[in-house]
Amino acid sequence: MRIVVALGGNALLLRGERADASVQLHHVEAAARALAPLAAEHELVVCHGNGPQIGLLALESEADPSLTRPYPLDTLGAETQGMIGYWLAQSLRNAGVRKPVLAVVTQTVVDAADPAFAEPTKFIGPIYDRAQADRLAELNGWTMAADGSHWRRVVASPEPLRLVEQESVEQLVSGGTIVVCAGGGGAPVVDDGQLRGVEAVVDKDLTSAALAIALKADHLLLLTDVPAVMSDYGMPTEEPLHHLDVAELGHLSFPAGSMGPKIEACRRFVEATGSTAGIGALTDAAGLLAGTAGTTVGRLTPRGGRSGSCTGSSSGGPVIVGS
Ligand code: ADP
Ligand code: MG
Repeated sequence: MRIVVALGGNALLLRGERADASVQLHHVEAAARALAPLAAEHELVVCHGNGPQIGLLALESEADPSLTRPYPLDTLGAETQGMIGYWLAQSLRNAGVRKPVLAVVTQTVVDAADPAFAEPTKFIGPIYDRAQADRLAELNGWTMAADGSHWRRVVASPEPLRLVEQESVEQLVSGGTIVVCAGGGGAPVVDDGQLRGVEAVVDKDLTSAALAIALKADHLLLLTDVPAVMSDYGMPTEEPLHHLDVAELGHLSFPAGSMGPKIEACRRFVEATGSTAGIGALTDAAGLLAGTAGTTVGRLTPRGGRSGSCTGSSSGGPVIVGS
């Protein structure tokens, strides 16, 4: 089978943990141990998130007095691909993977006219007070938005259209190489005859879905820091949803900044390929593939049948919002 796996950036650096390299490498090693059995048996493409990591680099760049301007986001995205890709490729080998493993820095083409550029929505980096936010907006040309009672930088999160390196990835995977690519959703570029990096962050779950569709993958696994998609998430009554039918997703609601894009990525993959997708914990990768752990998204129920549902969200209409 051909499997595309997306590792959550938050699973590589737990919330509240120090971003030390040793801490992250420890998590990457655990991820590699979980993925090694899949790599042995299947064609495998590993994508990964970079939310916490790109936030850290952006801060460092912003604070560097030797720079005229902070590094642009596409370039910081490429840096995180190099760093996490290096850790993953090394750890997969150390976990016993005998096939060739290659981490590549890839670019994701987005539309220059994507409405997301006119309305940046994705929060990155730390919180600021109003005065700091105004100063940073003036200094760096950033867009700032209120996040609760604080202010944060917001950047565009345009739709991933394709990977520039899609063909190379296909060739590598077909040739038996385990490929790490599309980290952080890929470095965002526009293609107007020349490729140019843009100030944006592409959603890694949506990029993984686009890549999985292009590669005609048999399975898309979104591995994160929760064991499954939950109904009543965060409430005492929360329960894992073992199966979600794409036909029912329109009636459910998930947060735009976290579970929403995962559900949307699964929906796109299932609709385009007819295969199933899974959302669950990093450590359950094998169980997720077998359908014994996490949440399986597919065309699962017969017409008129029922699968899982989420509380307070049965009002109908397209309520899943990508980030
Ligand atoms: P990743 O780095 O893996 O993309 P995200 O934070 O973007 O991580 O998404 C995973 C998070 O989604 C979980 O940690 C959880 O807090 C949140 N979440 C929101 N709604 C749900 C839900 N219904 N079930 C499970 N997790 C949810
Ligand atoms: Mg996420």
